[in-house]
Amino acid sequence: MIRKLIITAATSTLLLVLLACQSPQEMQIEVDVYKGGVATVNSYIFSNGKSLIVMDVQRATSEAKKLAEFIEQKGLPLTHILVSHGHPDHYTGMDWLLKEFPGAKVVVANEDIKQDIIGFSTWMESVGWLDTEPTLKPKSEENPDGFDYEENITVLKGNTLEFNEGGSLQLSTQYKPAECEHLTTVYVPGLNALFSSDFCYSKVHLWMGAGVTNAHIQNWREQLDAFNVEFADRNPTIYPGHGESSDLGLLDELIRYIDDFERVTASASSKQEAMTEMQGLYPDYAEADFLLKYSIDFHVKK
Ligand SMILES: [Zn+2]
Repeated sequence: MIRKLIITAATSTLLLVLLACQSPQEMQIEVDVYKGGVATVNSYIFSNGKSLIVMDVQRATSEAKKLAEFIEQKGLPLTHILVSHGHPDHYTGMDWLLKEFPGAKVVVANEDIKQDIIGFSTWMESVGWLDTEPTLKPKSEENPDGFDYEENITVLKGNTLEFNEGGSLQLSTQYKPAECEHLTTVYVPGLNALFSSDFCYSKVHLWMGAGVTNAHIQNWREQLDAFNVEFADRNPTIYPGHGESSDLGLLDELIRYIDDFERVTASASSKQEAMTEMQGLYPDYAEADFLLKYSIDFHVKK
């Protein structure tokens, strides 16, 4: 019994020493996933046990309301809303979250991403797409009560996002234009997890619509190959921008999808033919009516 106590005490001491030796970056970080019902978008809620950071915040305010409830249930303060890239399915919820969590601030990894967000919202307003999300209409002389993107979005200095009271997220942004002009990924060593944002979709059709040129698609494919090399010996869990989490095998599946999409859209004699062929190849992939439809629309001209 005494021996067991000594061993227990020794183990506890060792644990304390190990914890004390951890650098702030290595502090244990946990993650929860909120799976959006609209467009299969994921929001990732990171915790260091004392405060929360959420990465990406959904395409609709209706979804953001559910996300806010999910975050509130964690019982910890939300300090940051990290938007990985300038597509509205990842940032539309920010207005609602800022209202629900006045202590939180929206952050992006660099000025380019901030400008992508402003550019996309300005364009959406010009074509009427923000009529269903009026609180996201940009603030202007004509619309003084609009959303103040300049004021509300903070650009981080450097690639580290610090938690309150210890620990941090390391952001990577050194990518060529692909699914979006500028993308942010996060790798969390303690979880061996890559939060790939929209470099990865899992059982969801890839967005290759307006703006995603053939050159961007090739960049995207090359980056998936590069992830394959970079992470081969770690085999991290991949948490994609859309769909279920997976392992490194997802990268090869995505490369195959890209090759199929390029081949099908180059040879199809009509949009409908391309649609039928892609759906035949990927029958269980979600979002054909939106993501696939508009991707084909952009790449098949007939
Ligand atoms: Zn997306």
